[in-house]
Amino acid sequence: MSVIAIENLNKSFGAFNAVDNLNLTTEDGEFVVLVGPSGCGKTTTMRMIAGLEGSTSGAIRIDGEDVTDQTPSERDVAMVFQNYALYPHLTVYENMAFCLKVRKWPQDKIDAQVRKTAKALDIESLLERKPSALSGGQRQRVALGRAIVREPRVFLMDEPLSNLDAKLRIEMRAEIVKLCRRLKITTFYVTHDQLEALTMGHRIVVMRGGIAQQIDTPQNIYDTPVNTFVAGFIGSPPMNFIKTVVENGALVAEGVRLVPGGAVADALRSRTGTLIAGVRPEHLTPQTGGSGGVDGTVKGRIELIEPLGSQVMIQVSIGGDLISAQFERGPDIEVGKEVTLVHRPNSIHAFDSASERSVL
Ligand code: ATP
Repeated sequence: MSVIAIENLNKSFGAFNAVDNLNLTTEDGEFVVLVGPSGCGKTTTMRMIAGLEGSTSGAIRIDGEDVTDQTPSERDVAMVFQNYALYPHLTVYENMAFCLKVRKWPQDKIDAQVRKTAKALDIESLLERKPSALSGGQRQRVALGRAIVREPRVFLMDEPLSNLDAKLRIEMRAEIVKLCRRLKITTFYVTHDQLEALTMGHRIVVMRGGIAQQIDTPQNIYDTPVNTFVAGFIGSPPMNFIKTVVENGALVAEGVRLVPGGAVADALRSRTGTLIAGVRPEHLTPQTGGSGGVDGTVKGRIELIEPLGSQVMIQVSIGGDLISAQFERGPDIEVGKEVTLVHRPNSIHAFDSASERSVL
């Protein structure tokens, strides 16, 4: 188990800042997910932690020791890439034993360690095969096995599941989380898939343009995103944003009257003028019965209906904008019909119109 401290870490390529002043200290055995759109600096951050890329400034410490100038092997970190990078001419056993041989482990210890790791990953029956005789999922398991066999202090995974089909991804996702929790190895995991980030991480780092926008638990990132970027990136389908005016504690626009609760309501007391309101599609449902007891509503015309099995997603035009709502399928939904959507209590977000930062 290890604690990684990343302090004021920067990486520039010429005048371009690929990673801009990153600060993060992990817990022992924590699973940290870096997520963000293509080019936001995820891989560069991982390569700096691994020691494959030098930093422009800043420091990386592992268990208090400054490793910033150490080589990858001195740092004792293991990295799994999306292309697996297995040695094609070696068997699974030899692939896994390779780094232990390099470290001059005695043969009996190597054998015991390879078999123990293979058992943990359920790949014992594949040990004599070459990588070419394995499926994508099996290769991924072997790549994980090869990385964890020497029980590194830190485990780095860069989009390790991106070559797998959707079903296998979900299976492997759960397995990786279980494995890392069991081994209690501090792990950094890169993905551009927000759902993967939400399901896997103890904490998520949401990056954009080299800058960590928010570092927090999946729940807090979903419940209290710090700005419109995080709010729109995390959650699927994405959050609706509506330009509104503050009126007596409500956020109002044509056909829209949203009533924030809790901390957002408190923050609104000192605000006037315009704000960007945010509401997630899954927090809007069609109004049934009268309007009694309903705080906030969005009224418009149904433009599109997308069946999603037990649920349905609709798009509603309001003013010139389209708002999405997702809810349990009901009988009264028809394209072209007017609909009144009500929102859940405490589900409204509000962002400053200029800075796009949350009012919280
Ligand atoms: P992706 O999800 O597409 O892999 P990423 O978030 O991992 O993206 P990085 O690979 O870290 O992004 O790249 C961050 C930025 O730094 C990108 O704009 C990239 O073009 C730039 N970059 C990365 N490596 C170099 C390099 N060696 N020279 C110049 N620019 C680079």
